[in-house]
Amino acid sequence: MARYTGPVCRLCRREGAKLFLKGERCMSEKCAFTRRAYHPGQHGQRRGKFSPYGLQLREKQKAKRIYGLIEGQFRRFFRHAERARGATGTNLLVLLERRLDNMVYRMGFARSRAEARQLIRHNHFVLNGHKVNIPSLLAKANDVLEIRERSRRVDSIKTSLDQASKRGFPGWLEVDAEHFRGKVVAFPNRDEIPMDIREQLIVELYSK
Ligand code: SF4
Repeated sequence: MARYTGPVCRLCRREGAKLFLKGERCMSEKCAFTRRAYHPGQHGQRRGKFSPYGLQLREKQKAKRIYGLIEGQFRRFFRHAERARGATGTNLLVLLERRLDNMVYRMGFARSRAEARQLIRHNHFVLNGHKVNIPSLLAKANDVLEIRERSRRVDSIKTSLDQASKRGFPGWLEVDAEHFRGKVVAFPNRDEIPMDIREQLIVELYSK
């Protein structure tokens, strides 16, 4: 599957915001955005204001990069959100939150969505009792996601879960860290998605 393979800290600097793409490093002083909070490149410190179109484009790029999608995948999510009932922008964010890689990240089994995708592809999870290895799968309400028995000794999973337990989990997920299990209680509403994304700008961009 096509995906971005370049330096990810550059993406945060390009969007002018911390996108939290690198797990623990994002919370530390080593964060590239903390050290150099300006755009990358030779003229990065001289960039001017954005036009209305530029703002819409940047907001879309930011959302796409946070969830680790390429343009075609993101656009498909948008079309799906448009067809659903309710506000398209909110529908879009809820759909993105329902992706399996995001669920793994939110449940604290991985330190970033990129790590979550890798763990899923490497067959470390069971969804409703069945092996699963598709990061883009959309979770449903009452779905139960577990780490496979043999994978519970993986250091990165244990460390990540420990750290996430201390931070706490979103209200729409029920996580049993002791048994390496999480359940989707319900889909989140907009207030439960802690993302600094102005989804209305994305809707305006794609509605042109
Ligand atoms: Fe972004 Fe994390 Fe890199 Fe900081 S460390 S620039 S938040 S990916």
